[in-house]
Amino acid sequence: MAKVYYDEDADIDAIRRRRIAVIGYGSQGHAHAQNLRDSGCDVRVGLYEGSGSWKRAEADGFVVQTVAEVSAWADLISILLPDQFHKSVYEDSIKPNLAPGKLLMTAHGFSIHFRQIVPTEEIDVAMVAPKGPGHMVRRLYFEAGVPALFAVQQDASGHAEALALGYARALGSTKAGVLRTTFREETESDLFGEQAVLCGGLSSLIKAGFETLVAAGYQPELAYFECLHETKLIVDLIYQGGLSYMRYSISDTAEYGDYVSGPRLIDDHVRATMRQILTEIQDGSFAQRWVDECESGGSNFQRMRAEARNHQIEQVGHELRSMMSWLNPKDVPADPTSVA
Ligand code: NDP
Ligand code: MG
Repeated sequence: MAKVYYDEDADIDAIRRRRIAVIGYGSQGHAHAQNLRDSGCDVRVGLYEGSGSWKRAEADGFVVQTVAEVSAWADLISILLPDQFHKSVYEDSIKPNLAPGKLLMTAHGFSIHFRQIVPTEEIDVAMVAPKGPGHMVRRLYFEAGVPALFAVQQDASGHAEALALGYARALGSTKAGVLRTTFREETESDLFGEQAVLCGGLSSLIKAGFETLVAAGYQPELAYFECLHETKLIVDLIYQGGLSYMRYSISDTAEYGDYVSGPRLIDDHVRATMRQILTEIQDGSFAQRWVDECESGGSNFQRMRAEARNHQIEQVGHELRSMMSWLNPKDVPADPTSVA
């Protein structure tokens, strides 16, 4: 078992002596800024003029300045922007305000690993990546903390590791436990997980199951319940007790069907495709494709998003969820403003 870092392995005083700029005030940004402040750190928020988040950060009591201004003030700069914006914000507003001994941090390795950001040698570069969305990082700060990964890419000062662990503690993560990784391992495994299993794999599995039932003449409403709604019930069991606990809880018929049909579905062909997806992540071709897509305006991305939102399963689901107010139904905001 890999070493797990807890509160006693992390020095909070080191991080309390630093001036911390949190760049971006979205999902991760608002949680990092507030947790760090509640841990006794000196925090300011960096945004662009006209940002929708500016008022929110001020309302939460922060000094808000442009990215360039906070980067000049701070000695620890935490970039919590969507990954596709790291390059331009770094080049335009952060890089000119770096100096030897400053620490650049991210919550995901993408921009550093794929060299969207190429930091100068005299600064420190580290990552603390919470394993949960921002609202959980904030809420669990007062309870158990959200587990996190940390990594050090450059250690010019000799203090990068201590500061990264101190940052993880100030976030509340060393209460839950923090694991050491590298930028490469975190980035590649994260991209693979979201593409092959969590987002790409699961949503395509749900959609294909739904389409198969509907094409065979079953009611779309039933297909929705079977293939989408019930995934939560199954995933909750897996989350609490692993695959065995899920299988212990379902019927013997369902368990038998799991053993005989699951491996037929996820067969050698699917495994070969997974290896190919991993190869394209490792050799940088996926990252290049995403960077090119963003740089050319994101029109393919917007088209795929619009098509996916118009799928029958989304229409049926919208109707059915409105009858189940207890599950706290959500709708996507009508007019997404950014490419992210
Ligand atoms: P969000 O999209 O939630 O937040 C974006 C924030 O950045 C907003 O405040 C936005 O302001 C601001 N912003 C956008 N463009 C600029 C700019 N040019 N200059 C200054 N500010 C800008 O991002 P996330 O919190 O989801 O992601 C941040 C980082 O955290 C990423 O590296 C991501 O990979 C990582 N991460 C995310 C997790 C998650 O669950 N969301 C989990 C772990 C890591 P405005 O309101 O004006 O748009
Ligand atoms: Mg992830």
